[in-house]
Amino acid sequence: MKFETPPWTEIDTVMFDMDGTLLDLQFDNYFFLELIPETYAEINSISKEESLIIIKRLYQEVQGTLKWYSIDYWTDRLKIDIRSLKRSVVNKISIRPNVELFLSKLLNLNKRLLLVTNAHPETLRIKVEHTGIFDCFEQLISSHTLMLAKENPGFWKRLQAINPYNPNRTILIDDSLPVLRQAKIEHLKYLWGIKTPDSQGKGQISCEFPLIDDFKQCFPNQTTGL
Ligand SMILES: [Mg+2]
Repeated sequence: MKFETPPWTEIDTVMFDMDGTLLDLQFDNYFFLELIPETYAEINSISKEESLIIIKRLYQEVQGTLKWYSIDYWTDRLKIDIRSLKRSVVNKISIRPNVELFLSKLLNLNKRLLLVTNAHPETLRIKVEHTGIFDCFEQLISSHTLMLAKENPGFWKRLQAINPYNPNRTILIDDSLPVLRQAKIEHLKYLWGIKTPDSQGKGQISCEFPLIDDFKQCFPNQTTGL
């Protein structure tokens, strides 16, 4: 899909996803596809290859549900202290290019910023502490508090009931295509994706949503507000 800058004068609420959107998904991919399988292999005295197969199967069982994103679920399922493991590698968490500048430009235009993430509240806390980029958000919302994942039917209506927003004047920027599709079904008007959520991974393509490569592409014009 051809890339166009969002029509900022038509938008007053900007909803951001966290992982793969504001933060580099490399951390999460490393954590879930390398560190957890390695740790699971050690604890259970199996090879890394065997461990990865088992872990991937367990991931598939709950993909697209809140369990997938739950620290408590994985701590219990894998018998690994996921909180401590996550805290042990916080130095690998990184912010995607031009995020701070983009957020400050939106604030200058008095846009309302909401973080809407599937991350577990504890993961959110760890990332907030480590990155320090979330002070300018009006609210940080973990989907766990709404009991639905963002890609689940009804999530966006439930969010609207709790945190009122006008779907015709709201943009959602999120690297997950299933999340964008669900938001579209629930009538959010402006939906932008992310081309390369993991800086070390392959980019994604979409004919449904414009994908942002670098937030520079979306900077509003400070004088016209467009
Ligand atoms: Mg994401």
